[in-house]
Amino acid sequence: MKSVLIEVSGTVQGLGFRPFVYNLAVENSVSGFVRNTGDGVQIIVQGTKSAVDSFIKKLQKSEFDAKYSIKKIPCRQYNNFKILRSKKNEILSEFPHDLALCGECKKELFSENNRRCLHPFINCVKCGPRFSIIKKLPYDRKNTSMSEFVMCKECRQEYKDPSNRRFHAQPNSCRKCGPQLSLFSSGKKLISQKDKALSGAVKLLKKGKILAVKSIGGYHLCCDAFNEKAVRKLRERKLRPSKPFAIMSDLQTAESLCHISKYERAELLSSRAPIVLLKKRKSKKYESVFNALAPDNSSLGIMMPYAPLHHLLIKAMPALVMTSGNKSDEPICIDEKEAFGNLSQIADFFLTHNRKIENRLDDSIVRFLPDSCEKIMTRRSRGYVPAPVKTKIKKDIFAAGGDLKNNFCFIRKGNAYLSQFTGDLEENANLKFYDESINKMKSFLDINPKKAACDAHPGYHSSRYIESRFKNVNFVHHHYAHMASVMAEHDLNGNILGFIFDGSGYGEDGNIWGGEVILYSKKQFMRVAHFDYFRLPGGDICQKENWRTAVSLLHKYGLTDKLPGHLKKYKYKTIIKMSENEVNAPLTSSVGRVFDAVAALTGIKEISSFEAEAAVALETAAESCKISKHYGYNIKNGVINMKPLFTELLKDIEFSLPASHISAKFHNTIADIIAAAAKQGGRKYKTRKIVLGGGVFQNIYLLNAVIKKLLFFGFKIYYNRQIPMNDGGICLGQAYLEA
Ligand code: ZN
Ligand code: ZN
Ligand code: FE
Repeated sequence: MKSVLIEVSGTVQGLGFRPFVYNLAVENSVSGFVRNTGDGVQIIVQGTKSAVDSFIKKLQKSEFDAKYSIKKIPCRQYNNFKILRSKKNEILSEFPHDLALCGECKKELFSENNRRCLHPFINCVKCGPRFSIIKKLPYDRKNTSMSEFVMCKECRQEYKDPSNRRFHAQPNSCRKCGPQLSLFSSGKKLISQKDKALSGAVKLLKKGKILAVKSIGGYHLCCDAFNEKAVRKLRERKLRPSKPFAIMSDLQTAESLCHISKYERAELLSSRAPIVLLKKRKSKKYESVFNALAPDNSSLGIMMPYAPLHHLLIKAMPALVMTSGNKSDEPICIDEKEAFGNLSQIADFFLTHNRKIENRLDDSIVRFLPDSCEKIMTRRSRGYVPAPVKTKIKKDIFAAGGDLKNNFCFIRKGNAYLSQFTGDLEENANLKFYDESINKMKSFLDINPKKAACDAHPGYHSSRYIESRFKNVNFVHHHYAHMASVMAEHDLNGNILGFIFDGSGYGEDGNIWGGEVILYSKKQFMRVAHFDYFRLPGGDICQKENWRTAVSLLHKYGLTDKLPGHLKKYKYKTIIKMSENEVNAPLTSSVGRVFDAVAALTGIKEISSFEAEAAVALETAAESCKISKHYGYNIKNGVINMKPLFTELLKDIEFSLPASHISAKFHNTIADIIAAAAKQGGRKYKTRKIVLGGGVFQNIYLLNAVIKKLLFFGFKIYYNRQIPMNDGGICLGQAYLEA
């Protein structure tokens, strides 16, 4: 006889790991048990030596992404093999994220004689909705929105049978007993139900209609991606002139549209099924389609169908626009009341169903470095939430995040539970969503931390929210939080030099920071260099009117006589006056705004209709130009002076050099500034560790150029991988600094 204890770590929750172990045990005639512990899964197996060895071998060869630590233990009395229920303080280890439809269920979905053929809510223990339907923990059917549906006899049998792959699949259902589809007109008139609703919806999509479709984490607005008229109609109705739309398609269509590396393909097909930003192919055939979907952008966001309903739609339509079903910047709609209320001016029809969405979730967005497995995350939501990020933070704490792209987080026993994306808290509706989500997460985690952290910005809604609810609040400066979030993720110590570049954050001196070089040493942050301050005439409006920032920067460096002709149509003289008089023109060191200014000067983007539009267009322009030259700059007394940069750049404009050339040179300049400052700072502060943080680094052309240069000089580079490097990630930094 042999008896072993196996400790399992890794992402195995909600993936049918325990039933798999159970079946393996039965197959190999071993006894013992499997159970969740707070941190992972514990297995004890006992039997003849060959049976136990064979069990272990098969376990290690299984498809689960897990680590197994195995040790021999004394034999005890076990009559059979059991799946033990989790104890109350262990229920958090069963707090699963939503999973895309698995291969086996997909096969059944399209098998004519299967009783779940064309059932839009098919799932098993390896796939299906999870977090989106959970009302409270433990994760049991009665605590999900599936509690309203009574399983039929056959479904119940499967659910109870440990050898069935629907054993304890909480959302289990079939055509007879599961949720149902309904198709409505925008006037809330019921048109058809079940299969007819589906076929009706497909017909409407083929006709170029816009549909609101209830998905996993909320409604999508949906139309034929290849029907430009429909896409433009959706743009008009959604008041979204140029912000890219993500699409959903099968892999084959995705491959005909975009270049897909093996890493990107694996990500697309993963059970998390995020939107992956992929490089468009150069294609005459798709040029106008691309222009309608994502203008001035070399990438297109594509995701694979993840809900069975999506598979049914994509079977009939090669590609669908699938954009969040919300009113401009508000939260994604999750129920019929919200959808009919907010989307009836946009959607012609509603394809909906009667399974309630408990937790609102947008689609997550990721992007890869070219031909690399290196991935960055732009939005962390469906598929990732509520999976925690492991940290070494010791205290339990709440961190409020930032205002612009909010994710908040709770730290519980070193696990950082980041919330789903809750959007821009300037919007009242988002603030309500924020409050709801905080309360829900608090009850899921059964946690009530006494300590909290938030941004130091006195005007942030998130900061005010937290002040009114916590006595013990730590106000953390925005850019230190960005840096700390990287440090928390990678568990960094010692002296570290950080480059934190973003759009805006409240700085220690009250100015708007956004181009900071920060030293971390002896548990202290110190800004050691920054981009030269310039004015933002009109304040926030500069985020849209890039030309204003351009004029302001030229004025600062005495270059307004070189203002390019195409910017003279604006009231540039007023801007010069505002800059001179320092009226309503706050100071900033924002690199994000410098990108805006260059986009305006080159004529690439004078006015933006959404955040980062100018930077994305500039990046797209740079990609088509393969030069390594850069403009001049100087760094003196900790100030990065851009006068040489703008002087030379204006000369290039005067000589009518192509915008792509200027853009590439500009990107290279920013990369060179970082390399130069890293070399100086690295020597002075005795460090080889470089942190890159802030939304500016979501620019892959820039990130790639910076990494190449820094690696060349032998630096170690760290940036956010598991969480967004934009403001969505600062909550983790806030928590890290408080604890
Ligand atoms: Zn499945
Ligand atoms: Zn059933
Ligand atoms: Fe930021």
